[in-house]
Amino acid sequence: MIRALRLVFLGPPGAGKGTQAKMLQERFGARQISTGDILRANVAQGTALGMKAKTFMDSGGLVPDDVIVGMTERELTASANSGAKPSFVLDGFPRTVAQAVALDDMLERLAMPLTAVLHFDADRATLVERLAGRWTNPRNGRSYHTTFNPPELAGLDDDDGGPLVQRRDDTLAVVLDRLATYDHNTRPLVDYYAGTGLLRRIAGLGTIDAVTAEVLQALEEPEASQRA
Ligand code: AMP
Repeated sequence: MIRALRLVFLGPPGAGKGTQAKMLQERFGARQISTGDILRANVAQGTALGMKAKTFMDSGGLVPDDVIVGMTERELTASANSGAKPSFVLDGFPRTVAQAVALDDMLERLAMPLTAVLHFDADRATLVERLAGRWTNPRNGRSYHTTFNPPELAGLDDDDGGPLVQRRDDTLAVVLDRLATYDHNTRPLVDYYAGTGLLRRIAGLGTIDAVTAEVLQALEEPEASQRA
């Protein structure tokens, strides 16, 4: 049985990280820490952090490491203080080798070692198709797809009934820039984690249910779940 989950979700935009992180949050109480969601909330509220991040986000580039590392450390410290065996999914962090090194350092200080790193992958055409049809509830980060995962009522969230929006950075030009940023800055992290024994590959190609089955299977592997 899966106990404490302390996971990094690595993978390009559109590979299904957010959907699967929400699944683990609902099933196992593993807190989803999505740096993208936190940044978007800051942009929406017009905070100093949000104003600093917005230009980078709108262009498909990365927010500077020091901003992101400080923000994530506050979230992880809050998790560490919230219970005896905190479980979390880092969704969208780290995205650079410098962020991964900073993460190792903070998790060591907080005595919360990672239990697995899941690497989601899918081909470029699938990623572009998924992102172009993606609609999101900005209030809770829940995502839909016009073809693959439509809401019950078009344009409205199944839970709160409020309007869905298309993310500003899901337009084709920005999507292509985000994929290039991923290849350049984030893909090298696959090698970074390859030597740790924590890396699991998830083929993010199939339906949501198929990817969920793969994730659960990967987490059953001995080193991925910490057994009491
Ligand atoms: P996401 O929702 O994960 O696709 O993130 C949306 C945008 O937020 C990215 O395109 C980046 O501009 C920014 N962002 C999110 N996480 C990070 C991170 N770990 N490092 C730098 N920028 C980030």
